[in-house]
Amino acid sequence: MRRFMNQLKNGTFVISYCTACRKKIWPPYEYCPACYRRTSPVTAGKIGKVVEFSRSWLEEQEVIVALIDMDGILLLGSISEGQGITIGAAVELIATGASSDGKIYFHFKILGSV
Ligand SMILES: [Zn+2]
Repeated sequence: MRRFMNQLKNGTFVISYCTACRKKIWPPYEYCPACYRRTSPVTAGKIGKVVEFSRSWLEEQEVIVALIDMDGILLLGSISEGQGITIGAAVELIATGASSDGKIYFHFKILGSV
């Protein structure tokens, strides 16, 4: 988990992968929860789609929080350029990281938006 957090702080989103089950595992675990074999860390893809989203206003700035399906892994993150956001819209993970107090964030942008 420490290695995962260090990579996340450097902007690399890594998940666990079980080569026996061919399953992506999130949050990352050293052992597969299905077959108990040791997993391997793999860099996750950056493209996903919007499952659900919500707009809110914080200090006169619009913030869009969305649930993103990253090819089977669900992430909660923020989205910039909310024009044209729809359920099912393709998004790209453009920033990820962890703050010093351990809070993880994911930031996406809508693909194809201007
Ligand atoms: Zn497995």
